[in-house]
Amino acid sequence: MFFRDRTLAAEILSRPRDPHMEAMITGYVDEAAKIAHNAPSVVLPDVTGRSAKSDEQRLHVVEGDLLLDDDELVAYAARNAPRPLIPNSPLGDSGLVGFETEGAATRWDEGTVLRYSVMRRSFLREADYRRAARNLRAAADDWEEVCGVRFEHVDSFDDHDDIARPASEFRDDLVFTARLQDQGGTLIAAAFFPTQPPPRRKVIFDSSYFRPGLRFNRVGVLRHELGHVLGFRHEHIRSGAPAECPGDTEDVTLFPFGDYDPRSVMHYFCGGVGNPRLTLSVSDKKGARQLYGPPLSTR
Ligand SMILES: [Zn+2]
Repeated sequence: MFFRDRTLAAEILSRPRDPHMEAMITGYVDEAAKIAHNAPSVVLPDVTGRSAKSDEQRLHVVEGDLLLDDDELVAYAARNAPRPLIPNSPLGDSGLVGFETEGAATRWDEGTVLRYSVMRRSFLREADYRRAARNLRAAADDWEEVCGVRFEHVDSFDDHDDIARPASEFRDDLVFTARLQDQGGTLIAAAFFPTQPPPRRKVIFDSSYFRPGLRFNRVGVLRHELGHVLGFRHEHIRSGAPAECPGDTEDVTLFPFGDYDPRSVMHYFCGGVGNPRLTLSVSDKKGARQLYGPPLSTR
């Protein structure tokens, strides 16, 4: 794995660009430097090639629980601007914010069953494995109750030795794996978006998730992570959020389903708002129904 020997911000600055571009970028070079220097990184086993299992892949943590590789971080830093003005939606009182792919809100195709395995051998204790599986199921149930999605725990791969293997290599229709990947408290858990390639489709637990005294509801943390899996972005990156909240976003066109909602499950606990129980707010439920339709159990 190649690692850059100078800061990403320096690299961005050294690239030749036209004066107009230069003027545009000057305003956020500081921001790029801040992100490049401050983004903590985590190391995951490299899963891009089966023959390179001993290599490692360094991913950078931005917005607390989004994992970006080197190239994605460069793009993130270079394009980052002050808090974007994300318009409120004409759709009214629903909530959540997604992002666009080819002009439409990003989502899993109709009928996709989000099958996953929980890699038992990654966890330090059997009790942690059981808790992870139980809480993931509970969080999945909460999303299934409010919109037309279906998660299914396929436990036939849970005991597999190769805990880093991409889910799709176990079985074509297995979408993601969930596993412990200790990150020393850099994050509590992390997930992925529908647009990320199969090797990146993992729900990661840090060992801090299992520590007594965690100030967030553990099922709630997974409701938030599964929100990303479904295609929802952080609520606190929107205009209207307190300035103290992290306000950055990747180079994506956001797709709001409603107005800014400080009680959203996708909102961090920052700037005096956010809900440490991470429950689905009334407007979260409406926004999720806009993207995925009514719960499958009601159709
Ligand atoms: Zn998040």
